[in-house]
Amino acid sequence: MTQDELFKVLVAHCKEYGFIFPSSEIYDGLAAVYDYGQMGVELKNNIKQYWWNAMTRLNENIVGIDSCIFMHPRIWEASGHVGAFNDPLIDNKDSKKRYRADVLIEDFLGKIEEKINKEVEKGRKRFGEAFDEAQFRATNPNVLREQAKYDEVHGRYKKAEDANDLAEYRQIIIDNNIVCPISGTCNWTDVRQFNLMFQTSMGSTAEGASTIYLRPETAQGIFVNYLNVQKTGRMKIPFGIAQIGKAFRNEIVARQFIFRMREFEQMEMQFFIKPGTELEWFKKWKEQRMKWHVNIGMGAENYRFHDHEKLAHYANAATDIEFQFPFGFKELEGIHSRTNWDLGRHQQYSGRKIEYFDPEEGAAYTPYVVETSIGVDRMVLAVLSHSYKEEKLDNGETRVVLSIPAPLAPVKAAVLPLVKKDGLPELAQKVMDQLKFDFNCQYEEKDSIGKRYRRQDAIGTPYCITVDHQSLEDGCVTVRERDTMSQERVPITELRALIDKRVNLNNLLRNL
Ligand code: ATP
Repeated sequence: MTQDELFKVLVAHCKEYGFIFPSSEIYDGLAAVYDYGQMGVELKNNIKQYWWNAMTRLNENIVGIDSCIFMHPRIWEASGHVGAFNDPLIDNKDSKKRYRADVLIEDFLGKIEEKINKEVEKGRKRFGEAFDEAQFRATNPNVLREQAKYDEVHGRYKKAEDANDLAEYRQIIIDNNIVCPISGTCNWTDVRQFNLMFQTSMGSTAEGASTIYLRPETAQGIFVNYLNVQKTGRMKIPFGIAQIGKAFRNEIVARQFIFRMREFEQMEMQFFIKPGTELEWFKKWKEQRMKWHVNIGMGAENYRFHDHEKLAHYANAATDIEFQFPFGFKELEGIHSRTNWDLGRHQQYSGRKIEYFDPEEGAAYTPYVVETSIGVDRMVLAVLSHSYKEEKLDNGETRVVLSIPAPLAPVKAAVLPLVKKDGLPELAQKVMDQLKFDFNCQYEEKDSIGKRYRRQDAIGTPYCITVDHQSLEDGCVTVRERDTMSQERVPITELRALIDKRVNLNNLLRNL
């Protein structure tokens, strides 16, 4: 199966098993808006809990808040979003499809890189042990030709980006014959800036109503509460404020399932520090956040840092943590050193003094900020796309299994009476009653045991517990493990401890 096909199968699987539904589906859906179903919401909550506890429980100097989606419109002027939260859009006149001009160029560059890497791999195979990659890259004519093309386009693109030269974006697209994937033509409109914020109005009368925005990030809710939290929590620098909440962006291109949504959820943490210490903290948070990811157990090789070449005017360091999604390495989380830009701007726009009196320094200053910002939905997609597997079994059948890391799995254990009679359902219910306070469990008595195992595999349940006739006599049940499919007899009294060992989120947190 190609990665493309895998992605389509995954989207269908998510719907079939109650993870993710297109929003408003009975009205044919709403573009780039998705609802979480009965399984999806559990997975999402577990991810949020892992993040929240890692931030607020493991760090005594980080506290959480929950600020509103609606905020004073001046906030978005101060933050720069009204003026500059734009994407460059371009339309194909034949297909009438809309694209981000920067993404078209970046994808084109990505393809050249792929070609170069393929050449290198061919060389590696051909020369075996004696292969010298650096020399190959410096001398192979195919690599040299592609590299020259890459450097030329990349150079022009960066210049255009720095100068905000939209006409040059279009020219790069035309000169390189970058076509619309739908129409296959190069018949493009001019490139225009498009503001990504959703607007609505607040107030009951037309005259009195004011335009407000749905927040495009949760971070500003933290900045404008900085003084409240610092004072009431008697927080001393360095300290952090964490928040999980919805954000809204009117994305131009929204064709990648929950990777790019118009309504999504973010987990952000702003860490307030003394000016001059920001690069040290930036490094620390880079390491911490990578550790949080790798600790989940989805393979360190599937993550990488992508340091920003072009920094926003307010940032003095920035990196992305990228994950290997089915469509390649893409941003999962951003880590930015934002200086005192945001607090400084709110100070200026609100007229309120936003400072910290440092008792050790005996002086007041506007704190600097290092932020970590991750999309909950992209995390859900990372977990699901990594976990989906189609396995060939010894008997020739194929089983679909979601090998979701056990502490994040929506359902931890399924309790299954072998048959629907002879007192087995009653005993199974007793097992449920014992386990349900600690774990999200599912009781199922319909269909053959084999079919029930398959259904649990498909939603990623780590343990299936089967109650059979012998259980009535010896008080033991059969426990089947999802990944190995191995089975063992376990006394009912020991079930809780056995399941807990593997699924308890605290064990993940202890490794951080
Ligand atoms: P991209 O370059 O992919 O548009 P971004 O750099 O604009 O992302 P940030 O503003 O840094 O993203 O937002 C922080 C995080 O929020 C991202 O790393 C991502 O996980 C998540 N995120 C941003 N936009 C979306 C979206 N439209 N849908 C889902 N998650 C998103």
